[in-house]
Amino acid sequence: MRQYEFITQSADETFDIAYKLGQVISGSSVVTLEGDLGAGKTTFTKGFAKGLGVVKNVNSPTFTIIKEYKGRLPLYHMDVYRVEDEFEDLGFHEYFEGDGVTVVEWAHLIQDQLPHELLSINIYYINNNERKIILKPIGNKYEMLCKEIFI
Ligand code: ADP
Ligand code: MG
Repeated sequence: MRQYEFITQSADETFDIAYKLGQVISGSSVVTLEGDLGAGKTTFTKGFAKGLGVVKNVNSPTFTIIKEYKGRLPLYHMDVYRVEDEFEDLGFHEYFEGDGVTVVEWAHLIQDQLPHELLSINIYYINNNERKIILKPIGNKYEMLCKEIFI
C-alpha cells in the first residue's frame, strides 16, 4: 500500500496540506488523526475545515467529543480522547455513513467502530517547528484522492 510522507517546517505548512485535502474530499469520508498532544491534529483539522469551506473557527472539541460545522459538506470534528469505553456507542456510525466528512482525533481509541476504508494520518513531533506527516489511504476512494492531490 502506498503511503505519503511529508516534513512540514511550520504550522502553516501543515495547515496547507490539510487545506488541499479539504478542497477535494468527497462526502461520506472519514479521516483519522493520530499524534501526541501538540503534534498538530487540531492545526490540521483547521486547515482541512478551511479547505472544505467552513467559515467558523474550528477549535479542539475535547470536552464535547463531536462538533459539527457547515461547509461545502458538513464537517464532523470528533476528539475521542475522553471516550471512556472503546465500545461506547455515541452514534459514530451515523456520522461515518452520513453525507458529511468526519475527522477523528485519537481514532485508535474507538478502533473497532471505525469504517474499514478511511484516510489515516499520523503526525509526529520532530522539533518545535517540524512535524512528519504520514498519510495512509485505505480503500480505492482514498487512494485516488491522495493520487490526485500529491501526484
Ligand atoms: P494537537 O491537536 O495534536 O494536540 P495542536 O494542533 O492543538 O495539536 O497544536 C500544535 C501546536 O504546534 C500549535 O501550537 C502549532 O502552532 C505548533 N506547530 C509548530 N510547528 C508545527 C507544524 N510543523 N505543524 C503543525 N503544528 C505546528
Ligand atoms: Mg487537538
